[in-house]
Amino acid sequence: MRTVVVGAGPVGLGVAYALGDQDCIVLERESEAGGLCRSFTVGGATFDYGGHAFFTKHAEVDELLTRFAPHELYRQPRNAWVYAYGTFVPYPFQSNLFGLPVDVVADCLLGAARQAAAAGDPPASLREWITASFGDGIARHFLMPYNEKLWAHPLDVVAPQWTGERIVQPDLEDIVLGALSRRDYRKYPNANVRYPHQGGFVELYRPLSTAVEHRIQYDEFRQVDLARRTVVTKSGTALPFDALVATLPLPDLVARTIDAPAEVRSIAQRLRHNSLYLVSLAVDPANASDMHRVYAADPEIPFHKLVLNNNSSSSLAAAPVFGMQAEVSFSEHKQVARDGLVDRVVAALVRMGLLRSPADVGACDVREVRYAYPVATTQTPAAVADLREFYAGHGVILGGRFGEWSYINSDSALQRGLDIGRELVR
Ligand SMILES: Cc1cc2nc3c(=O)[nH]c(=O)nc-3n(C[C@H](O)[C@H](O)[C@H](O)COP(=O)(O)OP(=O)(O)OC[C@H]3O[C@@H](n4cnc5c(N)ncnc54)[C@H](O)[C@@H]3O)c2cc1C
Repeated sequence: MRTVVVGAGPVGLGVAYALGDQDCIVLERESEAGGLCRSFTVGGATFDYGGHAFFTKHAEVDELLTRFAPHELYRQPRNAWVYAYGTFVPYPFQSNLFGLPVDVVADCLLGAARQAAAAGDPPASLREWITASFGDGIARHFLMPYNEKLWAHPLDVVAPQWTGERIVQPDLEDIVLGALSRRDYRKYPNANVRYPHQGGFVELYRPLSTAVEHRIQYDEFRQVDLARRTVVTKSGTALPFDALVATLPLPDLVARTIDAPAEVRSIAQRLRHNSLYLVSLAVDPANASDMHRVYAADPEIPFHKLVLNNNSSSSLAAAPVFGMQAEVSFSEHKQVARDGLVDRVVAALVRMGLLRSPADVGACDVREVRYAYPVATTQTPAAVADLREFYAGHGVILGGRFGEWSYINSDSALQRGLDIGRELVR
């Protein structure tokens, strides 16, 4: 039985690992495994494809990655901040109102109190969910503009089902106490994070990719003929398969399925996602701070998130340059000009007091992540279910963040890969 896996991201690596010595080929179009968990350097500073840190509730993934790691992972409390109204407050905004302008705090508290007493229908969109969960003050002053910026979609079309694990939900008592004084509110899953001791996030997955390296062919998947159960690669190799595990973005899979019916092609068009420009700057270490992340809703600031990756581990902190990476999301609903983006990011950093002067930027890099966040809409679950069923009928298993259009982190992706591999063995 031959399994072909498209993609050597966490899902693909997990499948290959779990398949043991069974016949398996992993196709990867980049020159390195790791997928969105890869890292790169700019002017001596180490960056990931957007800020990455490790935390997990999957015991098997935790055990596997820590057993493989050459050193114990670097572990620390997450030091994240929000920039709003010209000041910094700790993350998350909703439980750290202290220090914001008094009229903003009053709006947020009164809105939260009114909302706590209100009853209503279950929210149908992210817009409704935010107001229903926090009231109109917190919604208006941060969570609405922040989420509009991040998702690059009108919040009316974004479904709210994923929010439970992703948006911190303090109760009214925590909101009020966090408005009266600065507290250390840490009731959220990534309050403590881990990161490789040396190098970027990719090092977390390096030992696993080394273990399955002999199965990886660095060649792009170009086409699948479902009737013949054969994949063709960029180099022209034809690979017959019994099972195909597809971790590439679903619209790309459908576009490359030569015998996909029109109905399947039209379903794939219902899937929505956003993209990111990553603006990575290597700056003079005199600008170093101890922050890990800064979130900004202000429309005058071009990014929604700033990643200060040198603080991810002690070895990165000792580097002679300090890295700052701005995540700027875009989509067909929110166009962002790439020209001049570095200057706009640098100007915002100076305005925020995070960079002394543009002259402190030694090197910079702008790169695009075409598929960054899958955007869940009301149409997503049915579209993914239909595509899953269609492909399952042809021996194709879908897996991963964009293979299943699921807002998951790398730990859940790896778990999914291990589960798929074991299922195939069975
Ligand atoms: C901004 C951002 C921040 C994140 N933060 C975190 C975090 O803090 N912690 C965390 O654990 N996770 C984080 N993630 C999520 C994590 O990166 C993903 O969940 C994980 O990488 C998904 O794994 P995957 O295997 O599903 O897909 P991917 O990692 O996307 O891997 C898919 C692979 O398929 C390959 N491929 C695509 N098309 C083809 C083709 N035609 N032929 C051959 N190969 C192909 C790609 O090159 C890639 O290697 C973050 C993601 C983003 C975008």
